[in-house]
Amino acid sequence: MTTLLYSHPACAEHEPGAMHPESPARLAAVLDALAAPEFAALVRCEAPPAAREQLVRVHPESYIDMVFEAIPDTGHASLDADTTVSPGSGEAARRAAGALCAAVDAVATGAAGNAFCAVRPPGHHAEPSRPMGFCVFNNVAIGALHARGAHGYRRVAVVDFDVHHGNGTQAMFWDDPDLFFGSTHQMPLYPGTGAAEEQGAHGNIVNMPLAPMSGSGEFRAALSQTILPALRRFEPDFLLISAGFDAHADDPLAGLQFHEDDYAWVTEELLAVARESCGGRVVSTLEGGYNLAALAASAAAHVGALMAG
Ligand SMILES: [Zn+2]
Repeated sequence: MTTLLYSHPACAEHEPGAMHPESPARLAAVLDALAAPEFAALVRCEAPPAAREQLVRVHPESYIDMVFEAIPDTGHASLDADTTVSPGSGEAARRAAGALCAAVDAVATGAAGNAFCAVRPPGHHAEPSRPMGFCVFNNVAIGALHARGAHGYRRVAVVDFDVHHGNGTQAMFWDDPDLFFGSTHQMPLYPGTGAAEEQGAHGNIVNMPLAPMSGSGEFRAALSQTILPALRRFEPDFLLISAGFDAHADDPLAGLQFHEDDYAWVTEELLAVARESCGGRVVSTLEGGYNLAALAASAAAHVGALMAG
């Protein structure tokens, strides 16, 4: 089965500022790692810009207009305390969301087995009407609702192993029994949501917060004992992954102790569920990861497992 890699040079033109951890160098590190000979079989695709009809499945028209009107002609503008945009940010954000929709199209039609979107800005903190935490549009939620809206899949799941809780995705999925959100994340940590008691209106949200300094054992136990069984019971028709690599031991923004092989493991486990319930249909997208070497190695482990799956 073919694995697709979606990206676009525009995603490197989003410049949050010289000291900002969510830097263009992150994308370069991931793409450099995926240029190694063992990734020669990856099929590389240009991410198209998301159409407005794809964005409005998740974000109100007024929010979309606010984002594009806030993009400065020169310099920077702040959307929230952590989320800064530059002249290239509008196109980067459209391509990041568009990558998810195009990847969903390719996997839904059987043109590929699965796909990874190497894009930025990331998305999982963005709420319907609120930019947050380096995120402008909620790329993974846009992909999930595109799988339903464009392809008729009824039950769509997102699993998020970024070290931060995907509050935006949770907020969008909360009231819909046919949308599943499962997350491991450090707690306490930004953004403060993601307690185990937060289970959605229909038990469709599964949060497994991990204490600081938790490592492979705690991560694999949370997945194996709680999130994967719940995901199997949900029986998704399509599975998306919010692949943040900032729970790595070397990451400067948080205190979990994951390693590269944990990312290969979780990918294999998620692919196994997808094979059982939805013909292996998986689309993954980059979220966080701020130590460039750890990010590159972790993304390579993740994509290598997607290719092997
Ligand atoms: Zn993160």
